[in-house]
Amino acid sequence: MAVVDRSVLVLNLDYQPLNVCNVRRAVVLLEKQKAVVIENNGHVVTSERRTLASPSVIRLAYHIRRPRPVLKMTRKEVLQRDDHTCQYCGKRAHDLTLDHVVPRHRGGQHVWENVVAACKSCNHRKGGRTVTEARMDLSRTPFRPPSTPRFLYGSYVRAGEGSWRKFLGMDEAASAAS
Ligand SMILES: [Zn+2]
Repeated sequence: MAVVDRSVLVLNLDYQPLNVCNVRRAVVLLEKQKAVVIENNGHVVTSERRTLASPSVIRLAYHIRRPRPVLKMTRKEVLQRDDHTCQYCGKRAHDLTLDHVVPRHRGGQHVWENVVAACKSCNHRKGGRTVTEARMDLSRTPFRPPSTPRFLYGSYVRAGEGSWRKFLGMDEAASAAS
């Protein structure tokens, strides 16, 4: 991945996580003095004006009213909630499918509480039946995840953005020490 396409965590003036942008956008904010660098990622990026350390975390120079974070239910988010683990057999895989616990044709809705990660063989085995009919068990009841920074941005940390941890409440000790 090109350095300018890497992810940057954007913090509000009060250090609360706001969103994620790429290095290209972050450099524009920095050059317009709309943000300051909090952490660098060890790479170097060249803008039109200069060469600078590539940011990984920036903080806005002004406070913006924080919109309520919205956690959309996508395949990616469901798999993340379920830790890429089939909710029927416990198998971890990267080609999991989404299963409607109560099948859609039986009135099941496409909502957090009715959608789980399932491996292909469990999904096939369950077919259009309910859990009871298929004599299968869910490892836990599906739920709507909290819209916390930890959940919203945790996947970036797992993908290598370790410097974000303390800003997401994932590393309380380091946060308290700094
Ligand atoms: Zn399975």
